[in-house]
Amino acid sequence: MENLLNDVLGQGNNMALFNAAYFVAAILFIFSLAGLSKQESAEHGVWYGIIGMLIALTATILSPQVTNLQYLIIAMAIGGAIGVRFAVKVEMTQMPELVAMLHSFVGLAAVAVGYNSFLEHGELAGMMKSIHLVEVFLGVFIGAVTFTGSVVAFGKLRGMISSSPLMLPHRHKMNLLAGIVSFALMVYFVQQEGHMTSLIVMTVIALIFGWHLVASIGGADMPVVVSMLNSYSGWAAAAAGFMLGNDLLIVTGALVGSSGAILSYIMCRAMNRSFISVIAGGFGQEVTISSDQDYGDYVETSAEEVAEMLKNAKSVIITPGYGMAVAQAQYPVYDITKKLRDKGVNVRFGIHPVAGRLPGHMNVLLAEAKVPYDIVLEMDEINDDFDDTDVVLVIGANDTVNPSAAEDPNSPIAGMPVLEVWNARHVVCFKRSMNPGYAGVQNPLFFKDNSSMLFGDAKDSVEAIARAI
Ligand code: NDP
Repeated sequence: MENLLNDVLGQGNNMALFNAAYFVAAILFIFSLAGLSKQESAEHGVWYGIIGMLIALTATILSPQVTNLQYLIIAMAIGGAIGVRFAVKVEMTQMPELVAMLHSFVGLAAVAVGYNSFLEHGELAGMMKSIHLVEVFLGVFIGAVTFTGSVVAFGKLRGMISSSPLMLPHRHKMNLLAGIVSFALMVYFVQQEGHMTSLIVMTVIALIFGWHLVASIGGADMPVVVSMLNSYSGWAAAAAGFMLGNDLLIVTGALVGSSGAILSYIMCRAMNRSFISVIAGGFGQEVTISSDQDYGDYVETSAEEVAEMLKNAKSVIITPGYGMAVAQAQYPVYDITKKLRDKGVNVRFGIHPVAGRLPGHMNVLLAEAKVPYDIVLEMDEINDDFDDTDVVLVIGANDTVNPSAAEDPNSPIAGMPVLEVWNARHVVCFKRSMNPGYAGVQNPLFFKDNSSMLFGDAKDSVEAIARAI
């Protein structure tokens, strides 16, 4: 095929065509990111991304660098089949796990490309060789950290590994030491014009470092970890692009790396966390989780009582969380929203930036159920309105409405801005038990005088309320 292209177009024209294809793909990726930043344009964003990726893959497959097309096609067919199977099977609530797993593949690929590129570096000499060795070393380092970090993130999100932070003694000193030793190994590696043992020792250190870095971050900071690993995977891809001399991979990796870093920063700001503290494995953060504190008694309510309360209300705010996603309660939630709005009740939604298990999780679910965007408000837009609200329905949310974030400086979520639902006249909390939320801390909201608990699966409870209304 390549020869055919060369024959038809001539070598020079052929290269110009590849470069043009890469350029168009890079532009489409930028459009894709821009489109994905708003709900209204997100679908277009996805299409730009798909078309960009198709162009990029076609150009790469047909590029003169590819000599064994049959292996590439076999690998793509196997990888594509596994990818389609996972994507079709995955539940919305498992999306972050899938993303974490995919990041781990990017990390592993960067390590493999690094070793391959080290063993097959060809005729390079002098400065070019040193630059290449630095690329290899950094690529393998970032890839290895991304790989084990993502595996631990996957385990934590899936509940296979405890979401509470691993607090090893001297953990920050160990991280610092790993960084210093890796840097010294890089210097030695370049001085020796490639020293296999240094590369292997650094890979082992980086694997342990990545694992430890994410293991020491607590549950509530996991959203930042996921976007941070997204950023790392981008830099790992960019490093692989340098090693392979593939411009598009460098551009795409840099786009993913920098957009992931910006997203991590935005999430840190939303959660009032120090960016450095989170990426350094909870640096400077000492937390205590107390399970034996007496919070008092809670009051239980029924679907009929809640329906009555809602019918008599003038204003209602719904604050959904992870439990709404698990129960897939967004459709009946919109059903009661319509019923109440028809009765003249002002119903709005308050969305916490880290509600659920992935950025924008609640917005996606509500959009799926066709809830109009104009009644879906961000936390900052709605937090002052709870004072004037008759009823708040907390549907499967826990950490994002936990007053201890503001009241208890030792709480793992201390300082995180939360939806101040307790300022409303009545708060109804939908959940199945008194279990804590993702951060593993009990929620004093459930024991407040103006709160009542509606136990059961959120979808069943909301449907029962809809019937009663
Ligand atoms: P939480 O995870 O804190 O709480 C979810 C609540 O839903 C639990 O109390 C659970 O209680 C309840 N629940 C679960 N299933 C059901 C069901 N079927 N019916 C009714 N209730 C149910 O949710 P939030 O959304 O408030 O907070 C998100 C947390 O996840 C934060 O700590 C955030 O940092 C973290 N996180 C967020 C990510 C993101 O990008 N958004 C990524 C990773 C982590 P019970 O079991 O008793 O029913």
